[in-house]
Amino acid sequence: VLTAHGVRRAFDGRPVLAGVDLSIAAGEVVALLGGSGSGKSTLLRVLAGLDAEATGRTGLRGTAAVVFQEHRLLPWKRVGDNVALGLTGPDVRARVDRALAEVGLADRRRAWPAELSGGQAQRVAVARALVRGPDLLLLDEPFGALDALTRLRMQSLLRRLRAEHGFAALLVTHDVEEALLLADRILLLDGGVIAEEIPVDLDPARSPDQPAFGALRRRL
Ligand code: ATP
Ligand code: MG
Repeated sequence: VLTAHGVRRAFDGRPVLAGVDLSIAAGEVVALLGGSGSGKSTLLRVLAGLDAEATGRTGLRGTAAVVFQEHRLLPWKRVGDNVALGLTGPDVRARVDRALAEVGLADRRRAWPAELSGGQAQRVAVARALVRGPDLLLLDEPFGALDALTRLRMQSLLRRLRAEHGFAALLVTHDVEEALLLADRILLLDGGVIAEEIPVDLDPARSPDQPAFGALRRRL
């Protein structure tokens, strides 16, 4: 659903992405790990088509939706209107209601973003992405700012939604266990390139002691 070849991006002559190649198959969830400042957010923006100055080739078959680390809801629009942003058609209201119900916020459609907790706001951001029926979700540390319990709930939610909708995803995360829990494959961004690619066994329990965990440890 997504391919990138030779993606490069420099800031003030300092290369951050130095030839990134990757591809994501339809329905596949790929985790992108990498140190702080390694260029994960930069890469996500390029893949989302939000960076006009990057070079290289990217190809997207279908539609993509982005969830940023901060929810980026418009404070002057109610929750429902945030989710509906840019949508047209007679069934917008029904689609918005369905998306909010899927993230467990059916009753907050008329709330203002400022009235939500951080976790609720992040769920609205997920609903705003889902309502577009994307083939690919680009997720930049979507749960990074949440408390541990809310993060666990959001991880379960993402797994459930994935099972229902079958979207592919590129999930930027700092959390190795999250990567093992949610992803089919882990990419490590280092030195401006994909330095490692580690498959995750499709163990239904997704236990942290599965072989990929050891493989990751050895390679980091
Ligand atoms: P984190 O895990 O902390 O979110 P990251 O891997 O997402 O880090 P990026 O935000 O992609 O890292 O930044 C990669 C590098 O590019 C950093 O050194 C950062 O300072 C630089 N950078 C990113 N955006 C800009 C910009 N708009 N102007 C100048 N430098 C930038
Ligand atoms: Mg980042």
